[in-house]
Amino acid sequence: MTLGNLRDLYQQVILERYKKPRHRGKTDPVHRLQKGHNPSCGDTIELTLQLDETHNTIADIKFEGEGCAIAMASADLMAEALRGKSIDEALEMVHRFQSMMKGEAEFPTELRKLNVMQGVSQFPVRIKCATLTWHTLKAALELPGSSQPTGFVSNE
Ligand code: ZN
Repeated sequence: MTLGNLRDLYQQVILERYKKPRHRGKTDPVHRLQKGHNPSCGDTIELTLQLDETHNTIADIKFEGEGCAIAMASADLMAEALRGKSIDEALEMVHRFQSMMKGEAEFPTELRKLNVMQGVSQFPVRIKCATLTWHTLKAALELPGSSQPTGFVSNE
C-alpha cells in the first residue's frame, strides 16, 4: 500500500466517524465526567463514563463536543474500543495510544481501528487533536468517584 492510499484510508475512516458518530451522547447513569480542551485547535470534549457494579470496568462511554474531524473521530473510536475494558486496561491503552502517536507502538489487530489515528502522527499539529480524548479519559479515570465537572483538562 502506498502512502497516498494509506492516507486516503485513514481520512475515509475519520470522516465517516465525524459525520456519523456511534457513541455521541451521555451515559446513564454518569459515574465519571470530565471535560477536555485542546487550545491549539479549539477542540472541546466532554466524556461520560458508566462503570459496572464493581466500579472496575467501563460499562459504557460516550462523548459530546465540538471540534475538528480528527478530535471527534478519535473520541468515537476510543469509546468503541473501551467499552467492557477494566480501568487498568483503559489506562494501559492511554499509554499505548500516546506511544503509537510517537511511532513507538501499535494496537493489536482486534483494535486495529485505533491504528487509523497513527496516520495523523504525520501531521504534528494535529496530534493533540487525536490525543485530546485519551488525555481527558486519563483525567476521568484518575479522579475516583467524580461525577461532577472539575473544569477542563488542557493538553497544552
Ligand atoms: Zn482539532
